[in-house]
Amino acid sequence: PVLRVAIMGLGSYGTRVAKAMQSCKRAKLTGLISGTPSKIKDWQAKYNIPEKNCYNYENYDQIKDNPDIDAVYVITPNALHREGVLRVAAAGKHAICEKPMSVNARQGQEMVDACRKAGVKLLVGYRMHFEPNTLEIVRMRNEGEFGKVLFFQGLSGFRIGDPKQWRLNRELAGGGAMMDIGIYSVNGARYMTGEEPEWVTAQETKTDPVKFREGVDETIQFQMGFPSGAVASCLSTYNMNNLDRFFLNGEKGYAELQPATGYGPIKGRTNKGELTHPHIAHQTIQMDEMAGIILENKKPVIPVNGEEAVKDLVIIDAIYEACRTGKRQALSL
Ligand code: NAD
Repeated sequence: PVLRVAIMGLGSYGTRVAKAMQSCKRAKLTGLISGTPSKIKDWQAKYNIPEKNCYNYENYDQIKDNPDIDAVYVITPNALHREGVLRVAAAGKHAICEKPMSVNARQGQEMVDACRKAGVKLLVGYRMHFEPNTLEIVRMRNEGEFGKVLFFQGLSGFRIGDPKQWRLNRELAGGGAMMDIGIYSVNGARYMTGEEPEWVTAQETKTDPVKFREGVDETIQFQMGFPSGAVASCLSTYNMNNLDRFFLNGEKGYAELQPATGYGPIKGRTNKGELTHPHIAHQTIQMDEMAGIILENKKPVIPVNGEEAVKDLVIIDAIYEACRTGKRQALSL
């Protein structure tokens, strides 16, 4: 069986996902949801999507009566993920949602609860959870090849352009760089160490308060402590290009990824040498693996469910609170 997917939000990342899905073996694009009729027309022609599988933001609840669609992939601006996922769940379809799953942990939990109640799966587009060099490091760590893990460094950033875009609008983005790109270091700290943090501290700096308005973070440094005693030191920014590096150090060895989360190829090495898995588009692997998770209850090595995403949102909420108060925040994940 093949997972038949409708994409909601035909923007730049939706375009990338659709293209990558053309190489999928187990997932297929069968439906479209967009507010822009001209985009629907273009995509219909490109991907051979019948009219009856095309919807707009007013009528997509009717997807519940469409037997050609198993799941909807929500790829809209962050603050709109919640409504999209709730309506998809109410229509009885599985939901795949982009990161960040929502703009705070409370909304994220609401999405998890709604999908559970509706009996549908909720998965989040954590494409790195399926990336082979990343998984190789996780395997080596689990087998003790680095010894006891003591330190993680995560650096995540890019220099953002157009000040009018939704990513710099708090209402649609839910924050700034942390929500968009810093989340890779938050999430990466967890899968690279294999632990859940029990505290965070954080400090914010802003060089351009006109471009980065109130509630839109430009640069945040944050630190996390883990139950084993390992610590993480991370940077999230909208003000530097080519900042994409993970570094893990244990008592015996190290692993580094640079780039660590870009669209690829992901380059990595450890104290034992270069990581050599070939590059395959992350979204192709992700959608094939998600088909296995949804259709066959396959368990990924690193979870991609809604509960996993809520943990990142709990940490991000605490990072913002730590910036606001200057105080260390305790976490129980
Ligand atoms: P984008 O602006 O290119 O696309 C967003 C789409 O949503 C557009 O087609 C837009 O028309 C549509 N939309 C619907 N309602 C809207 C509204 N009220 N206001 C504005 N746009 C509206 O953005 P994008 O880069 O495609 O990002 C979309 C989502 O995907 C974000 O949540 C982002 O974090 C996520 N994303 C994930 C990755 C990844 O690697 N996993 C990469 C890029 C983006």
